[in-house]
Amino acid sequence: MRIGILGDVHSNLEALQAVVDKMRSEEIDNWVQVGDIVGYGADPRPCLALVQELDCTVCIGNHDAAVVGILDTEYFNTYARAAIEWTRGQLEQEDMDYLRNLPLLVEHSEFTVVHGSQYKPEQFGYVLSKVEAVESMRVQRTKMAFVGHSHVPALYMQREGTELADIEVLYDSEIDARITSFTRVLMNVGSVGQPRDEDKRAAYGIYDTATGEARISRVSYDIETTQKKIRAAGLPSVLADRLSLGV
Ligand code: ZN
Repeated sequence: MRIGILGDVHSNLEALQAVVDKMRSEEIDNWVQVGDIVGYGADPRPCLALVQELDCTVCIGNHDAAVVGILDTEYFNTYARAAIEWTRGQLEQEDMDYLRNLPLLVEHSEFTVVHGSQYKPEQFGYVLSKVEAVESMRVQRTKMAFVGHSHVPALYMQREGTELADIEVLYDSEIDARITSFTRVLMNVGSVGQPRDEDKRAAYGIYDTATGEARISRVSYDIETTQKKIRAAGLPSVLADRLSLGV
């Protein structure tokens, strides 16, 4: 089974379309989205429609949860909060219902999908360090887990016959690994719509359960169009500016 994973789309339609176009040539059997479909960008409805059209396995992100009122916006910075409030005004009832009904964590036979840490997923804890990865992987029941939230790609891997505390880590803007000799793996797929690893290209993940291929790839997209839309919508201009820097 070849799984294509989308992380943190954040209403960036140009990035999402570029990534999906590229992924369509990768013979994907199952599509996954790790939450935060909306927030920050100017195209929440078209992004929601495309994720639904792909029939993605989806979990809820903290921005999705805030838009529908499950999570208090006091936990967000000023720019994020402004975007959440703007997004709320754009969505139809059906969009709100879709987001509200997304699960916090999905456990498939081959993989787990969660936005932040698998440990207390309702707290949307970040997995940025080895310690946080170990805490998350301690409760992981499938060989593979896909997460997002930090917008920074990473692969945390427990090799066969080793302790969880001794996981191996790969941090890079693009990663191409084989995980056949690992028992548990946590893959942070990076972000489609707002990368923060100083690589402005949109990120996506591929996992092949037959070959053990676990890969993060990048795609360039029309950032200028996205920025124009963000500014024209009256969203904070910093949300447009940061896209050119990948921060
Ligand atoms: Zn996010």
